[in-house]
Amino acid sequence: MSDLPHKPSDEVIKYKDLQEVLIECADCEKELFKMLRIKPSDKVNKLLVKCPFCEGQSWLHELDGEYFQTSPDDLIVDEMYEDEDGVMIITMKGKNDA
Ligand SMILES: [Zn+2]
Repeated sequence: MSDLPHKPSDEVIKYKDLQEVLIECADCEKELFKMLRIKPSDKVNKLLVKCPFCEGQSWLHELDGEYFQTSPDDLIVDEMYEDEDGVMIITMKGKNDA
C-alpha cells in the first residue's frame, strides 16, 4: 500500500454504500420512515413502524449495516422501543397532531 496523502477511492466507496430504504405502511402504503445506510456491517436492524394514518403498520424490516434514521417531512417519532425479539417498534405521529 502506498502512503498517498489523498485517497479519493475512500470517498467513492463511501458514497456507493449509501442506500436509502423507505418503510411504508403495509395497509395504506403511506411513507412512514426512512433508513439511510451509511456503511455495510454485520449489524442487523429489525424494525417495524406503526402507522398514524390508519390502524396498520409496516412489514417487519430486517436491514444489515449501519443506518441513519430519518422521518418523512410531516411525521415525527412518537415512541420507540425494542421488544423481546430485538425488534425496534417505532410509533410515528403527525407533526401537527396535538
Ligand atoms: Zn397506514
